[in-house]
Amino acid sequence: MRLILLGPPGAGKGTQAQRLVDRYGIVQLSTGDMLRAAVAAGTEIGRKAKAIMDAGQLVPDEIVNGIISERIDAPDAKNGFVLDGFPRTVVQAEALEKMLAGKAMKLDAVIEFKVDAEKLVDRIVRRAEDARAAGQPVRKDDNPEVFRKRLEEFRALTAALTPFYAERGLLKPVDGMAPIEDVAEAIRTALERLPA
Ligand code: AMP
Repeated sequence: MRLILLGPPGAGKGTQAQRLVDRYGIVQLSTGDMLRAAVAAGTEIGRKAKAIMDAGQLVPDEIVNGIISERIDAPDAKNGFVLDGFPRTVVQAEALEKMLAGKAMKLDAVIEFKVDAEKLVDRIVRRAEDARAAGQPVRKDDNPEVFRKRLEEFRALTAALTPFYAERGLLKPVDGMAPIEDVAEAIRTALERLPA
């Protein structure tokens, strides 16, 4: 199973990705998580990405394309993957298409999380409060100001992926504002209906 989760920041992609991992034995490839790990480990990629990420801007394509290509080839991805946070632009989607063709792989579906962007700001403020209350580190980009910038960037760049994948017959929209269990159920139903 090879999937993309498409939706603005705070739409619940990470939560649903984890469920898909458990259900299908695939790996979650989140460029945001991988970049944060690189920053924490102080690798060369991490050093390049840190300031860009703190400002809520996009890390250069060659960096994210490279880390995705490498992870797709790893043995733990043999059953497939769910991409979360990648691709972010049509240019990245085209690069992914070419990359997968080169590996003789095809996407099965692109799950589109349909959400009310204004309500997401409340959700992200809560995510930061919950993390703080649990004594966990709060993401630097989980503050309303940077979050709004990430939302704007989504509208300007990533929203164009909806027609891109619709044209390819891969788009499966779900209501991302529904409770977690309902979203999971909608995704399960969409995937069960895929042609074998
Ligand atoms: P996320 O956790 O997906 O919200 O990503 C956090 C940050 O990592 C983003 O604001 C970007 O700075 C960077 N990032 C994650 N994925 C990508 C991507 N596909 N292309 C460029 N930058 C990315």
